[in-house]
Amino acid sequence: MRVPVKIAFSRKCKRCGLRYPEKASVCPHCDGLTDDQVRRIRLRHQSSLAGHSSTGRLFMYIAGLIIVVMVILMLKN
Ligand SMILES: [Zn+2]
Repeated sequence: MRVPVKIAFSRKCKRCGLRYPEKASVCPHCDGLTDDQVRRIRLRHQSSLAGHSSTGRLFMYIAGLIIVVMVILMLKN
């Protein structure tokens, strides 16, 4: 089983909002970029986060449905 990348990326960049390894002295995502480029990264990062959360909600919804079906089946027996 692989360790999720998010655990290794423990420091959050104040400029672009992305996480990077604590060992790195500068943020690898926005180092050397212009403010406009950083803004684009932030926007893309926010939209990807929104996508993840909606996927999470869908999984929670499916898990809830499975639990309801299991309870119904258990009550029938
Ligand atoms: Zn950064």
